[in-house]
Amino acid sequence: RSKEAGKDRWSFFTTDMKADSDAEARVEADLYRAVERDELFLVYQPQVNIRSGEVTGVEALLRWQHPLRGALSPAEFLPVVEKSRLAPVVGAIVLDKALAAARIWSDRGLDFGRVAVNLSPQHLKAGTFLADVLNAIDKHDVSPDRITVEVLESIFLNDASCRKIEVLEDLHRRGVHIELDDFGTGYASLSHLADLPIDGLKIDRSFTAQLLADSKAQVVVNSIIHLARALDIGIVCEGIETDAQVARLRMMGDFSVQGYLIARPAPFEIFSAWLERRTEARRSAAV
Ligand code: C2E
Ligand code: MG
Ligand code: MG
Ligand code: MG
Repeated sequence: RSKEAGKDRWSFFTTDMKADSDAEARVEADLYRAVERDELFLVYQPQVNIRSGEVTGVEALLRWQHPLRGALSPAEFLPVVEKSRLAPVVGAIVLDKALAAARIWSDRGLDFGRVAVNLSPQHLKAGTFLADVLNAIDKHDVSPDRITVEVLESIFLNDASCRKIEVLEDLHRRGVHIELDDFGTGYASLSHLADLPIDGLKIDRSFTAQLLADSKAQVVVNSIIHLARALDIGIVCEGIETDAQVARLRMMGDFSVQGYLIARPAPFEIFSAWLERRTEARRSAAV
């Protein structure tokens, strides 16, 4: 009897896994077509200084305009990208589009601070990331100091040869900012932080969400802010959704914030219009 139950569970499990891999295989096949047909696009979300309101950065976030399923977010296809051979291809597309956007904002005299792209671990591993960044810089004539690369803490693990860190050090020396994304959720050893080519920390939005309800989250956010100050690096606090969160954070320091309260990620034209209004408002406030 228990054997029967065990068998059932096993067959259920394998059917489920097969369905999973079938679905993934379909997404992967779709993705190759998506790249050919230019269905991948970026949406943009600003990062602003919490006190001055100055736009300090713009994060480029990947979307896929699927012909049948509509606009898909990274959670729906990025895991497949990372497992496939497409990661470096998609990474290069992101760099190309993000820097093309930065070029246009510069030409229009819009203050965007830096354009931030998310690094795919597989792109870095493939060994083409540095060349792809330099290519995009060249092609779009964007200064390296107008670019941020957001990396996950886990990048720095399992890198015995330190080759991945060398690439980031190289970019950092050229003026590209390197920021640790989702900071506080990974395993970054604090003692290593000072040795890494890091220009900023992004406080994970899970802390922001708990900021008003949980005093422990406040302690963590405060500690990260003090740590960044001691290391002389920047802070971006993610996932700002309410005025109360902004008010609380303002008491804690002077840094940048990003979240739905300021602006939701938006396609190029919509974001550019937001940036234009913002630039105008700041200019007229200055005179
Ligand atoms: P991330 O880099 O931490 O990006 C921030 C995510 O938080 C984005 O989700 C953004 O839309 C969302 N977000 C921003 N403000 C708020 C807020 O106030 N509340 C809430 N609840 N969420 C907010 P998205 O666009 O779905 O991206 C998810 C993740 O996918 C990103 O997390 C990043 O790790 C990855 N990703 C996105 N674009 C790319 C890309 O071009 N390349 C790679 N390798 N990864 C990417
Ligand atoms: Mg990010
Ligand atoms: Mg993040
Ligand atoms: Mg994230």
